[in-house]
Amino acid sequence: MEMYLIRKDVIKRVVVFQGVLRADSPVLVSTGERGPIKEVIRDADGNPYIPGSSWKGVFRSAGERIARERGLTVCSGLTNDSCLRKYQKERDFMNALRQGQQQLPTAMEIAWNYTCLNCKVFGTMSILGQVRFMDSVSADYRVNNRTMIAISRKDGSVAGKALVTLEYLDVGSHFPFTLYTYNLPNYALGYLIRIMEDIHKHLVQVGGNKSRGFGFLSFEKLSMNIMVPENSTVEHLPKLDDDDVDVKINAKELRDLPGDRFFELTSPLKEAFKNARISYPR
Ligand SMILES: [Zn+2]
Repeated sequence: MEMYLIRKDVIKRVVVFQGVLRADSPVLVSTGERGPIKEVIRDADGNPYIPGSSWKGVFRSAGERIARERGLTVCSGLTNDSCLRKYQKERDFMNALRQGQQQLPTAMEIAWNYTCLNCKVFGTMSILGQVRFMDSVSADYRVNNRTMIAISRKDGSVAGKALVTLEYLDVGSHFPFTLYTYNLPNYALGYLIRIMEDIHKHLVQVGGNKSRGFGFLSFEKLSMNIMVPENSTVEHLPKLDDDDVDVKINAKELRDLPGDRFFELTSPLKEAFKNARISYPR
């Protein structure tokens, strides 16, 4: 098995997803401070943003549901549930790593056989993922406030400091979106596209205050750029490993498309996700 999906030393394929998201509802990505005022996160210039780490969390948890619906075994990524620990391979893996270069193939084999798609794509302890989400710093936004009564989660009574002011980004705010992916087989690209489609279709919310209907976004524009192999005026994405399937797709068309159109034209990749064999975890 070519284990490109977990290799960092060889670059077989680099695919970048780039787009613009529009807030279709208020969006609250706060600093997480518990106090009477919740503020949106801002960068050094004062522009609000959705951190790359938030995207990663959103993708991983949305992916969990999608992968399970597809019949795959995936972990939540929480320390005690993560694959290497669950399959009791953590010690073998760490020992192989510690012994350096000549035990590297053993470590790779353990990592391949005993981690799920989410561990491979998004990373797990001691294994880096194959994706990188950039911060979505907004340059086109409107900030608003809402004062609400805080109800204690425990007993439903009104909390001591009853009034809470929420700062949020209003409907119509825009966010850039950039996701770098390395050595993803066609089925894993299809997997990420399925997750983006669920965000676009409002099946997944981003940020806080979800129960009040916050966090719905859609892709106004989306592109898929194949950076490696170079000169990919590709009409055919060959399978990347034995589990993968060949895909016919016109890469040139996938530029600056409205979300709906993008998800239509990328259905061959979504099909690959549906049809790939995916032989791990053992
Ligand atoms: Zn896992």
